Amino acid sequence: MSIVSLIEKEYFAFKRSILLLIIPLPFFIIGLIDFPLKNLFTIILLSFLVISILLLLIPSLKKTKPENPKVRIDERDIPFSRAKYIKGTKLYENYYNRFPEKKIKDDNIRSKPGLLNKDTLYYDKVMFASAKASFSTIEGLSKFVKGEEVEEKTELNPIEISNYIKKWGQHLGAHTVGITNLKDYHLYSYTGRGEDYGKKITKEYKYAIAFTVEMDHLMYKCAPKAPSVMESAKKYVDAATIAVQLSLFIRNLGYPARPHIDANYQVICPLVARDAGLGEIGRMGLLITPKLGPRVRIGVITTNLPLITDKRNYDPSVEDFCKICKKCAHVCPSKAISFDDKKIINGVKRWQINWDKCYSLWCTTGTDCGRCISVCPYSHPNNFIHNIVRFFIKHSKLFRIFAISMDDFMYGKNPISASIPKWMTVNKNIK
Ligand code: SF4
Ligand code: SF4
Repeated sequence: MSIVSLIEKEYFAFKRSILLLIIPLPFFIIGLIDFPLKNLFTIILLSFLVISILLLLIPSLKKTKPENPKVRIDERDIPFSRAKYIKGTKLYENYYNRFPEKKIKDDNIRSKPGLLNKDTLYYDKVMFASAKASFSTIEGLSKFVKGEEVEEKTELNPIEISNYIKKWGQHLGAHTVGITNLKDYHLYSYTGRGEDYGKKITKEYKYAIAFTVEMDHLMYKCAPKAPSVMESAKKYVDAATIAVQLSLFIRNLGYPARPHIDANYQVICPLVARDAGLGEIGRMGLLITPKLGPRVRIGVITTNLPLITDKRNYDPSVEDFCKICKKCAHVCPSKAISFDDKKIINGVKRWQINWDKCYSLWCTTGTDCGRCISVCPYSHPNNFIHNIVRFFIKHSKLFRIFAISMDDFMYGKNPISASIPKWMTVNKNIK
């Protein structure tokens, strides 16, 4: 455990793991020293150990499936869209005539410097320039969002081509790939950004291919500082590149396909990925994947290429873990994440973060924060030690409680944001 902590550059966890060495101390003492009732003490200690392990291994049985959204979200209402409603424009007048109650709050958010702006808290010319370059790259990819398939349709076996897409997607850099039927609730109701602003979104495709790409653990450890936005922007590029490439590939086979890339979504990616069997939605409203937790970006392709969908194996342990953990809610600098149990929102029991509070913070920090993602116990690296812990978290209720206490002990209830790696500190304006 100590070695793994060192490899992961988790120095706080390393020191704590040294402290854990005192646990076997009573056994050594009993082994080395002779004293009256030694046998009795040995039996008591061993029984305690065995009973504790057995208790932690009792499987959990609860299985109540989460419900699906009943109302579609209008993309024109999300903070990214509202940030673009500038005073004096027709868009501004139209929107706030419809929703006057949002005007003051939105004006206040717009008065802040804004994402990747130079007057923000974590501004760094070089690092922000890196993140901006990633977003510009995605803008360049947006020309591939719409496009026609070739005329000649290639007849394919759905099992084989589904398998091919998954393997090819992983080869292109995806961590996991899944397929689901596209549902109405996956789609926004109206487009809120770009040239199609205000256009009603109709269901044109039968299938959705969802995939995840991993965000770097060490870059995210620095959240909410600049490395986290560099990393998230970079992974938006990776997700966009894979989505575009798979879409063009499907069009080359004679079938329509649409990549959903940053600022050009028609779908709510976490919901699609959940239904494609890639994870569950956690307290922070993001997809919690089995091996990387929320430390992923999601890409989606919608298509009419006949495919075989994946069975969603609902994992109730994630909701149960989130119910007790609440670490993201504790650390969230904008208090956007609820400490409460799920609530009925638009007819469905769910957790919902306060996106306005979250986005407002981004406009002050200049980064997309990501503190919740960086501290989530599911976000630890995908290695043997953490995967053993993940296995028992999935299967034992008592282990979940134990694991949360251990995570707090090893990494802290409010883990310190890591220092920016040395190579990123670049002198500017050298004469
Ligand atoms: S930090 Fe804890 S409560 Fe928040 S999403 Fe992760 S596991 Fe759930
Ligand atoms: S990104 Fe930051 S502000 Fe937003 S919910 Fe997560 S911790 Fe809170």
